[in-house]
Amino acid sequence: MPSDAVITELVSLIKDTRERVAYLHELGVTNVETELKAPDSAKQAARAKSTNAQSLSGPLGLPHQTPPTSASAAGVESVSSSARTAGTATPLPQDTLFGDIAVPTPVIEKSAETFEQIWADVGDCTRCPLHQARKNIVHTEGNRRARLMFVGEAPGADEDAQARPFVGRAGQLLTKIIEAIGFKREDVLIGNVNRCRPPGNRPPTPEEASMCKPFLLREIAAVQPEVIVVLGNTAMHNLLDTKVGITRLRGQFQDYHGVKVMPTFHPAYLLRDPSKKQETWQDLKKVRDYLETTPRRES
Ligand code: URA
Repeated sequence: MPSDAVITELVSLIKDTRERVAYLHELGVTNVETELKAPDSAKQAARAKSTNAQSLSGPLGLPHQTPPTSASAAGVESVSSSARTAGTATPLPQDTLFGDIAVPTPVIEKSAETFEQIWADVGDCTRCPLHQARKNIVHTEGNRRARLMFVGEAPGADEDAQARPFVGRAGQLLTKIIEAIGFKREDVLIGNVNRCRPPGNRPPTPEEASMCKPFLLREIAAVQPEVIVVLGNTAMHNLLDTKVGITRLRGQFQDYHGVKVMPTFHPAYLLRDPSKKQETWQDLKKVRDYLETTPRRES
C-alpha cells in the first residue's frame, strides 16, 4: 500500500504533467518525442507506432491520387498542391511564432510504388514549358535502397544529352564529394527538383518546380532515405518549403517529415568559388558521422 506521501507526490506529478500538456497544446504541439535512449528495436517500434498513429494513406501521406497525366492539368494541380501541404518541413525557426519551438510534422509513410510506376506517370511530359527544349527527361538514379540521397536543381546540357543526373563537371565534383565521405556513387540516390533542362541553365521557376516536384517526393516516399543532402538554394527551397538562403541553413540538419535534410552548397557553385569547398566538407562530414553512428533503419 503506497504511503500518503507517495500518493501526494503522484497527484502533484499528474497535475504538473496535465498543465504541461495543456501548455504544449496551446502552442499547437501535437506530438512530443522524448529524449529517452531506447534500444533500436524499441525506437523502431515507437517510430512505427507514431507513423501508424498519424497514418496517412498514400506516399507522403497523401490520399492516393490519380497520377497526373499531361492531359489532366487538374490532376497535376491536385497532386502538387497536396504534396505542397504534405511537403512542408518542420517549421524553420523564422517561420514560427515562438522561434525555437519546432512543431512535429507527420513522418512519411513508406510507399510501395516502384520508380518505373512513377516514371510511367511522368510519361512524355509536357506539363510545363521546359519540355519544349529538352532532349531527354532526366530521372533520379542510383540505389533504390539508399540511406543517402542528393537532390539538385535541374539537368544541365550534359545531363540533358545523356539522360542522367549530375554527369557534367558539377556532377564529377559531386561524385568526388560522395566518395570523400566513404560512399560510391552507386550506393546513393541522385535526383533533381526538375527533370528537364531549363534554357541557359537558369533555375526552374516556382511553377515549373511545382509541376515536377511531386514525382521527386514520390521517389523519396518509395525509398525513404535516412538523409537527403539538398544542393543549393533551389533544391533546399523546394524540399523544405522555405525562402531562407542556403548560406544561413547550410550545415544544420533540417527535417523533412522524419527524414534528416542537410543543406549545402551546389557543386556548380563550388566550381565557381572553390573556397566554399571547405564549408561543404564540414557539412558532409556531419552527414557521414550521422550515418556511421546510426544503425541502418530496417525497411
Ligand atoms: N546541376 C543540377 O542541379 N543537376 C544536375 O543534374 C546537373 C547539374
